[in-house]
Amino acid sequence: MTIKTNNLTSIILYIFLTAFLFASTNTYSTNFSNSTSNNNTSTSILNNQRRNNKNVLILHSYHKGFSWTDRIMKGISSVLEDKNIELFVNYMDTKHCSNDDYFELLYQIYKEKYSNVRFDAILSSDDHALNFLLQYKEELFPGVPVVFCGINDFHPERIKNYTNVTGTYETYDILSTLKLIHKLHPNVSSVAVINDGTVSGQAFINRVKRVEKNLQNTFKIDYISDLPLQEMQTRLSNLSSKSVVIWGIYVRTPDGKTLTYQESVEFTRSSTQLPIYCIWDVVGSGVIGGKITNPVYQGEKASELVLQILKGKKAENLAVSGSPMVYKFDNNILQEHHISESELPAESIIINKNHSIYEQYKNIIWIVIIIITILVLIIITLSHLLKKINSTSKVLQLTNKELALAKDKAEESDRLKTCFLANLSHEIRTPMNGIIGFSELLAYKNITPEKHHKYLKLIKSSSQRMLNLINNLIDISIIETKQMNCNIDLINLQDVMTNMYQFFLPSANKKGLLLTYENKLQDDSFQFNSDQQKLEQIITNLVMNAIKFTKSGKITLSCEKQNGKLYFLVEDTGIGIDKNLQDAIFDRFRRNESTTTRTEEGSGLGLAISKSLVEMMDGEIGVQSEINKGSKFYFTLPIR
Ligand code: ADP
Repeated sequence: MTIKTNNLTSIILYIFLTAFLFASTNTYSTNFSNSTSNNNTSTSILNNQRRNNKNVLILHSYHKGFSWTDRIMKGISSVLEDKNIELFVNYMDTKHCSNDDYFELLYQIYKEKYSNVRFDAILSSDDHALNFLLQYKEELFPGVPVVFCGINDFHPERIKNYTNVTGTYETYDILSTLKLIHKLHPNVSSVAVINDGTVSGQAFINRVKRVEKNLQNTFKIDYISDLPLQEMQTRLSNLSSKSVVIWGIYVRTPDGKTLTYQESVEFTRSSTQLPIYCIWDVVGSGVIGGKITNPVYQGEKASELVLQILKGKKAENLAVSGSPMVYKFDNNILQEHHISESELPAESIIINKNHSIYEQYKNIIWIVIIIITILVLIIITLSHLLKKINSTSKVLQLTNKELALAKDKAEESDRLKTCFLANLSHEIRTPMNGIIGFSELLAYKNITPEKHHKYLKLIKSSSQRMLNLINNLIDISIIETKQMNCNIDLINLQDVMTNMYQFFLPSANKKGLLLTYENKLQDDSFQFNSDQQKLEQIITNLVMNAIKFTKSGKITLSCEKQNGKLYFLVEDTGIGIDKNLQDAIFDRFRRNESTTTRTEEGSGLGLAISKSLVEMMDGEIGVQSEINKGSKFYFTLPIR
C-alpha cells in the first residue's frame, strides 16, 4: 500500500488520525494491574516479550463510549483478563469516518505502531474491523489468526478465501419477538419498525422482511426508515392505538445527526406511548424487551475462541457460529403496559424486578436466621448447663445441709453421751456414797436408836435409787438390743391405776403435793389385754417425774377411753418444759438442763424407756407443757 502523498487532505487526515489513534489505543496486560500508557508501549512490548506472554490485538469497529462496543469489550475482558494475556485494544471509530482513505491511513498507523509486536491472535468486533482485517491483515499481521464477533448478516462466502479466520456472528430471532408481540397484544393490527439508513439499519429491514411472510397476516408491518428526527417523531406520534413499535436501529439521521442507543430509545419513547420492543439489547433504556442479541455474550463467545487459539487450536478448525440470544424484559415497562411475567417465556431475564423483601434481603435474612438459630442453640445449651449447675449446686447444698445435720447430730450425740456418763457417774456415786457413808455410821457403838433408824432409811433410799438406775440401764440396753418382749395378759385397769395411786401417794404427800386419781372409766371391772409390768413402768416413770419436777400444787392421774383407745394422763403443776425441748426429752440421755438441777436425781433414760415401751404396745406418747405452769404427759394404748 502506498500513501497518496499528492492528496493534501489525506496528509492532514493522516497526521490528525495518527495523534488520535495513538491516544485512543489502550494497551494493557491482563496479568498486571496497571494498564500501560501509549508512552510506554514499547517498554511494555519489550517486557512482554521477555515474559513470553501472549499478545492479543482487539480491534473494535466503533469508538470507546459507544455502548454496543463497550459491552462487547466487557464480555472480552470478563474472559481474557487475568490470564497472562496482553491486550492491545484499538477503536477504529468508523461511526465517524469509514471511507477507503481512512482505512488506508489506519493501515499505515497500525503498521508503524505494531512493527515490533508479534500478535498471537486478533479479535475484531463488528463489520468494519473484520473487513479491514480481511483486506490488510496479511500485510500487517501475517499469519495471525482472526476471531470476529458482532457481524451482521454473516455469510460463509465472506471468509471463504481466508485462512486462520473464525468467529461468531450476530444472530437474530425477529420472528420470535413478532410472535410474542402477537401473543401479548392480540388486538394489535400493525407493527412499526423504525430504523436508520446505515448498513446495519438496512440489513435489519431485510431481516424483518425475510420473516414477515411467516406472520400469516396476524398484523402488517410499517417500515419507518431513515427519517430526520422531526419527521420520525411525527410518524411515531400518529401511529394508531392498535400498533406497537420495534426499535430496529436508529442511530444516524439522513441529515447527519448521530444518536446513542440510549438517546434514540428515549427519543422513541418520548414520541409515542405505544409499547416498544427491541431486537438488540437496549433493555433498560425504556423498551419492553424482546428476544435479543447481546453484545456482552458476543464478546464472551469470541474470547472463548481466542483462548482456544492461544492454547494451540487452529482458527480454521473452530467453526463459525451464531451468538447466543435471550428473552430479556424490563419489569418497569412491562408494568406500564400491564403485561404480567407469567405471559413471558419461562427462561426470560427480567430486569428492574420488584423483588420481595425476602428476595431483596435473602442473604441477610438467612445470615440473621443462622445467627438466631446459633444464639438459640447457645441459649438452650447454656440454660441446660445452668440447670445442671443449679441441680448440682442444689445437690451440693442438700449434701452440705445433710452433712451439717449429721455433724450436728454426731456432736449432739457425743455431747449427750458425755453428759450421760457424767450424770451416770453422779447417779452411781450419790447413792453409793450414801450407802457406804451411812453403813459406816451404823458401825458406831454409841448412836441413838433414832439416828440408827434414820441411817437405815437413807441406806434404803440410796439403794432404791441405785436399783432404779440399774433397772433403767438394763431396760434401755434390752430395748437397744431389741430383746425386750411383751408379756400380754388380761389385766384389770382399775386395779392397776388404784395401786399406782396408792403407791405414789406417800411420796407426793411427803413433798406437800396433792395427788389425785380421776377414774373416768365408768366400768370398774374393765379388763384388757396388755403387759401389766410395762404399763406400770410407764406410769411409774411419768408420776415419779411429776413429783420430782413439781414443787407445789397437784398431780392428777387419770385414765379414760377415747376413740376406741385407752388414754392415760399424768398432769402436774410443776416447772414445765420449754416448747423447743418437748420432743427432745423422749430421746435417750436427754435431760432438760435449763430446768433440771444436778440436785434432782435422774439418768435421762426414763422417758426414752417409756416411749419405747408405749410404742412396743402399739401406743403413742406425748407431752403438752408450759414453763412454770405444768406438764401433761399422756399416752395411749389399744384396747385388746
Ligand atoms: P430423768 O431421769 O432425768 O427424769 P427422764 O427421761 O425421765 O429422765 O426425763 C427427762 C427430762 O425431762 C428430765 O430431766 C426433765 O428435764 C424433763 N421432765 C420429765 N418429766 C417432767 C415433768 N413432769 N415436768 C418437767 N420436766 C420434766
